[in-house]
Amino acid sequence: MPDQYVYFFGAGQTEGDGRMKDLLGGKGAGLAEMARIGVPVPPGFTITTEVCRLYLQGSAEPEGLREAVAVSLARLEEATGKTFGGGESPLLVSVRSGAKFSMPGMMDTILNLGLNDDTVAAIAKATENERFAWDSYRRFVQMYGDVVLGVPAADFERLIDARKEERGVRHDTDLSAGDLRELTAAFRALVEERTGVPFPTDARAQLWGAIHAVFDSWQTPRAKAYRRVNGIADDLGTAVNVCTMVFGNMGDDSSTGVCFTRDPSTGERTFYGEFLVNAQGEDVVAGIRDPLPIARMREVLPEAYAELLDAQEKLERHFRDAQDLEFTVERGHLYLLQTRSAKRTGRAAVRIAVEMVNEGLITIEEAVMRVQPEQLDQLLHPTIDPKAEVQVLATGLPASPGAAAGKVVFNPDEAAERGTGEPVILVRRETSPEDYHGMVAAQGILTARGGMTSHAAVVARGMGKCCVAGAGDIEMDESRRRFTANGVTVHEGDWITLDGSTGRVILGKVDTVIPELTNTFRRLMEWADRFRTLRVRTNADTPNDAAVARKFGAEGIGLCRTEHMFFEGDRIDAVREMILAENPTGRAIAEARLLPMQRGDFEGIFRAMDGLPVTIRLLDPPLHEFLPHADSEIKHLARKMGVDTARLRARVDAHHETNPMLGHRGCRLGISYPDITWMQAQAIFEAAVNVAAEGVTVCPEIMVPLVATAEELRRQRKIIDEVAEEVFEAAGRRVDYLVGTMIELPRAALTADEIAAEAQFFSFGTNDLTQTTFGLSRDDAGRFLPGYVEQGIIPHDPFQSLDLGGVGKLVEMACRLGRGVKPELKLGVCGEHGGDPRSVEFFHEAGLNYVSCSPFRVPVARLAAAQAALRKN
Ligand code: ADP
Ligand code: MG
Ligand code: MG
Repeated sequence: MPDQYVYFFGAGQTEGDGRMKDLLGGKGAGLAEMARIGVPVPPGFTITTEVCRLYLQGSAEPEGLREAVAVSLARLEEATGKTFGGGESPLLVSVRSGAKFSMPGMMDTILNLGLNDDTVAAIAKATENERFAWDSYRRFVQMYGDVVLGVPAADFERLIDARKEERGVRHDTDLSAGDLRELTAAFRALVEERTGVPFPTDARAQLWGAIHAVFDSWQTPRAKAYRRVNGIADDLGTAVNVCTMVFGNMGDDSSTGVCFTRDPSTGERTFYGEFLVNAQGEDVVAGIRDPLPIARMREVLPEAYAELLDAQEKLERHFRDAQDLEFTVERGHLYLLQTRSAKRTGRAAVRIAVEMVNEGLITIEEAVMRVQPEQLDQLLHPTIDPKAEVQVLATGLPASPGAAAGKVVFNPDEAAERGTGEPVILVRRETSPEDYHGMVAAQGILTARGGMTSHAAVVARGMGKCCVAGAGDIEMDESRRRFTANGVTVHEGDWITLDGSTGRVILGKVDTVIPELTNTFRRLMEWADRFRTLRVRTNADTPNDAAVARKFGAEGIGLCRTEHMFFEGDRIDAVREMILAENPTGRAIAEARLLPMQRGDFEGIFRAMDGLPVTIRLLDPPLHEFLPHADSEIKHLARKMGVDTARLRARVDAHHETNPMLGHRGCRLGISYPDITWMQAQAIFEAAVNVAAEGVTVCPEIMVPLVATAEELRRQRKIIDEVAEEVFEAAGRRVDYLVGTMIELPRAALTADEIAAEAQFFSFGTNDLTQTTFGLSRDDAGRFLPGYVEQGIIPHDPFQSLDLGGVGKLVEMACRLGRGVKPELKLGVCGEHGGDPRSVEFFHEAGLNYVSCSPFRVPVARLAAAQAALRKN
C-alpha cells in the first residue's frame, strides 16, 4: 500500500489539516486548516515532504507520483470549472515551496503557471482584459525563467526598463497590452538564447519543471546554510503547494497584501499590515509602488476589508497565537493565501503572551513557553532606534548585545579620561586586561580582531556593555588615530554607533532607545518563576553589577572573580608587586596593601546581596594576564617597588609560561603561596563580620579554583577554616559559610567522590572544563573552530552551548559521584553556559541547584529554567 503523496485542499474537499506540518510543511498545513475552518482559500493540493525525501534520495520521482498529481489536477479542474493548459477558461496555478519551518533559502514562488499562447488568448477573452492577460504572462516567463531556468531576474528587468524608456513612462503599470505582449516575446527569446531550449509551452511540462525546482532548492547552499544556522535538520525535505491562482491585478477592485493580527514589533493588539491595489503578490515586497496601510482598505475595498477583519480574528482565535497572513482580493472577493504564527520582536513576544493569557486565549504555562529566552535579550539592552536610517561601515560579531553611540578613542587611558564627561567608544585591534579601565569608561567596545569569546567579548558581556568584536573589515591605523572601513576614514573624536545585537558598526550618532522593564515583562517573569526549580544566580564582581543582577531577579552570586577587582585603578601595581615579590616579606607588604581594598569590595557586594549567597572564587589568574610587558610599564613598576628595572624584567621573564592556561594558576598558586589564600580569606571573613554587624545577612561561599585532586582542596580548605576561626574570634561574631570547589578539570570530574568528601559545594566551571575536555584553548580556537561547525564536524560552538556528549557527560558523572558520598552537596554552574537556554535545560535535567550567568542573562536563564521544568512535565 503506497503512501498518500498528494493532499487536496479547498472546495470542501480538504484532506490534510493544521497538525500535519511534518508531511505538508507549514504552508500546506496552514492552507488545509484554513480551508477546514471555512476561511476562503483558493483550492489546490500539496505534494508531501516525503516525496521530496524520496526524490532527493534517488534523484527521481517515486513511482505513482505522476498519477497522483494527475488525479489531483483533474479534481482541481472540476472544482474550479477551469482547464489546465487550455480551454475557454484556463486554470492557472502557483507553485510554492513550503518546508516544516519557514526557510528563506528555499525556492521562490512561481505565479501564473499554465500560460502559453493559447491560454493567454483565452484568458484575455474570458476576462475581457487583454492587458491583464499579457501582464500575467510576462510575469510568469520572468519568474519561471529566473527561478527554474536560472536566467537572472535583472536581465528581464533590463528589458522592461528599456521598454519603459522607449515609451517615456515611469511605472510598469503604464505599459500597454501591446508592450507587454512584445516584452513576453522578448523574454522568451532571452530564455531560449541563454538555455538553448525554447521556453516550455506545455502546461504540464511547466508544472513538473517547477516541482523539481522546488525539490532541488532544498539542497542549494543558501538553504543549507540557513538550516545550519537555525538548527533545522537536513533530512526534513520540503512540500510543494500547487494552488489555484487568484488575481489581485484584475483592476481597482482587486488587491494583494500582508497583515498581522497584532503589531509584530510592539505586540499591541491592533490589526496591522499593508496592501496594494491592482497588484500581484510579489509587488508588495518588491517595493515597486508604495503599499498603503491596511486601515485604508476600509475605504477602498470595504466589503473585502470586513471579511478580512473577520478572517484574521477567526484565525488568531483558532490558532491561539498571533498570525502573519497573506491575502489577495480578486474583483472584491477575498482569499487567504497563507497563515503562520507571526515572527515578532522580544518585546512583542512578551506582550502578546501576557495579553493572550489576560484575554483567556492561552494558559500561563503556554505563555511561558511562547517566548524564546534569547528574545529577552533585546528587552534588557538599549537598541538602535528601528526608525533610524543608518550607514553601515562594517559588520563584526555581535559579541555583547545592546547599542551604544560615542566618540571614537583608540587608547584606554584616553577612554578612561574622556569617558567620564562624554560618551566614547573604545576601538582596539583587540583588548587585554590592561584596557579594563578604558572599557569600564566606554559606552561600547569595538575590536578588529577576536571572536565571541575574546577578552573584549567576555568582559563586555560581563559588564552588560555593548561590544562588536572581530570586525575584520576595519583597517586600524592607531598611530594616526584613525581607522578605515568601507571606504570611509573615521578619526579620533568622530561619532560612531555600535549595534551589539547584529554586529553592525554605524557611522555617526544614531539614536538608541532604552527599553523599560514593563509590567508585562515582570508579569511573565513572575509566571516563569512559578515553574522553575533551578535557581539563577549571577556572575558579578562589583556591587554595581550585583545590584543590577538583583533587579533582574538574581538569587545570589554564583561567581565573584576576585582578580577582576585587581584591575581597578592602580591596584594592578599592588597585584604585580605581590606576584613579583622576591621574598615573603615583599609579598606580605603588597598583600597588606591589597587586603583592605579587597575587604572593601566584599563589603559592598555583601551589602548588595543582603540575604543571598555570594560565591567568591579565590585568585585564578593566568599569571601573564597580570604582568607588565611593555618596557615603560616595567620601568614604572620598578620605580614604585624601588628595584632595578633589569632585575624586575628578569623576574617577569622568570614567570613566563609556555602554556599559561595549563600553568601556574588556580589553586596551584594558593598551594605555592599559601599566604595569598590567607589574605583573601581574611578579607572575605572580615568583610563578612563587618557587614553582619550592620545587620546584613551574609552567606559567603568560598570557592577554590582549578582543583585536580582532593588533597589540593583539603589543604586550601584547612587554611580557609583556620582564618575563619581567627577572624570570628577576634570579632566576637560568627557567620555561616561554605567552602567548595570548581569542577573544571576532567580529573576533578572523574574523582568527584573523593573531592566531595572535602567540599560543601561544586560549581562547574564549564568554560575551562570545555577547554580541558577538548584539549583546546578558547583563545586560539577561533582559527579552526568555526570551520568545524561549518563542516558539521561538531554541531555548534561548545563555548556557547554546552557539549552535551562530552563535557555534559563529565558534569553528569561528577554530580552522581559527588551526591553519592554527600547527598546534600550543592551543585551549580558558573561558566557562560549558565545563560545559554539549551545548556540551562541540560543543567535542569542533571539535577543542579543553580546556574549563574552575567547580570543581563539572568532573565534569559530564569525563563529557560522554567521552560525546562515545563517541558519535563
Ligand atoms: P513565501 O513563502 O515567500 O511567502 P508564497 O508561496 O507565500 O511565498 O508566495 C508569495 C506570494 O505570492 C504570496 O504572498 C501571494 O501574494 C502570491 N501568491 C502565491 N500563490 C498565489 C495564488 N495562488 N494566487 C495569487 N497569489 C499567490
Ligand atoms: Mg508567503
Ligand atoms: Mg576557570
